[in-house]
Amino acid sequence: MSNNGSVFDAMLQEFGIAAKLIGLEPGIWKTLTHPKRQVIVSCPILMDDGHVEVFTGFRVQYNIALGPAKGGIRYHPGVTLDEVKALSAWMTWKCALAGVPFGGGKGGIICDPTTMSKRELESLTRRYISEIVDMIGPDKDVPAPDVNTNEQTMAWIMDTYSMHVGVSTTAVVTGKPIIMGGSLGRREATGRGVMITVREAAKHLGLDLKKCTVAVQGFGNVGSVSADLIQKEGGKIVAVTDWKGGVQNAKGLDVTKLIAWTVEHKTVAGFPGGEPLDPSKIFEMDVDIFVPAALENQITMETAPKIKAKIVAEGANGPTTPDAHQSLHARGVFVIPDILANSGGVTTSYFEWVQDRHGYFWEEAEVNQRLEKKMMEAFDNTLQTSLKYKTDMRTAAYIVAITRVAEVTKLRGMYA
Ligand code: NAD
Repeated sequence: MSNNGSVFDAMLQEFGIAAKLIGLEPGIWKTLTHPKRQVIVSCPILMDDGHVEVFTGFRVQYNIALGPAKGGIRYHPGVTLDEVKALSAWMTWKCALAGVPFGGGKGGIICDPTTMSKRELESLTRRYISEIVDMIGPDKDVPAPDVNTNEQTMAWIMDTYSMHVGVSTTAVVTGKPIIMGGSLGRREATGRGVMITVREAAKHLGLDLKKCTVAVQGFGNVGSVSADLIQKEGGKIVAVTDWKGGVQNAKGLDVTKLIAWTVEHKTVAGFPGGEPLDPSKIFEMDVDIFVPAALENQITMETAPKIKAKIVAEGANGPTTPDAHQSLHARGVFVIPDILANSGGVTTSYFEWVQDRHGYFWEEAEVNQRLEKKMMEAFDNTLQTSLKYKTDMRTAAYIVAITRVAEVTKLRGMYA
């Protein structure tokens, strides 16, 4: 059950387990395991020192049966087409499970944003969007932030697209600044969704969240908000790591102060409210809940046996390899799969898209209330399916998602 490092193969393995359980017909199986469209672009950029660098970018629209493709754009040196394909497939299942009318897409550029100036990042973003401008749009494909992209990146994307089509088009992208059509609550939505699923999982397992200790890997948008909101629900955050270092405190870290420290120092390392922690030790922390919120392929056959947590809530996409997932499940660890745990982001992106298209914006309390309802429905659907099929939550989540996409694919029929 190894995926040999290919995250797309990992996705196919997860898909296959669920598809087999529901007896998915071979034609639909084939259709749903092939990306609809994959685009690779080259982006020449004039760097600040006067030399020209050429960056490679990807955009994959995996499936659009349920609606426009939806999915973030990642800036990272390790981006590959394989990774973008997997992430776009996960978006397809995530949107279907969340019950939002979107298909799945994803984008990425191979670059190291930590070494680039703001002007270089703006040029790269605009050039990349110019290259894929015909693919995207509110009814076609709606990007969003992912690793190393943020509200500012989304503002540049919205502007570049709008300049090309000659109309200010806020709904082309989600995760925008509030002042230009973003939704209240969107920045916190993924972490809020993680918190809701953790809370519900604890309830299901008969654990009192107020007595639970928590470790978090990755302290960006998802990790920091998850930590903050789980702490507000009574959980004790005792360990946090990021790409540069880590910090631990058995009495509980002050998450508000840790966020302020991270904004200033760009890392949790050196935070005075705890002891230093080697990032590789995050897996072996003696905690009740572990939230991987960094990148994929973190929980492997090497790290999975070290995990002592009773709940693993996948804030990140694809943090667990299929074989490691099997081993966690076999040991009775309750894994809340990525396509459920982190679906709060895309759910609130859907709310943002709806608000942009209406030109009418909701109060934050309304956004959060609607998110709570959608997350509870998705969690409950997944849990009930897992009980019905006597299977784990990941397979159950895939069953719900695949069933919905397969049904619409059949209803739409084959256009040939
Ligand atoms: P981010 O760039 O804001 O944060 C990423 C964090 O991970 C940073 O703290 C970084 O230092 C840390 N990190 C990177 N490599 C690491 C390593 N090897 N060990 C420990 N920490 C490491 O990104 P994000 O938006 O928080 O996304 C994190 C994950 O969540 C990704 O898998 C992303 O696809 C997924 N996700 C994000 C959203 C969203 O709304 N932002 C929604 C759904 C899923």
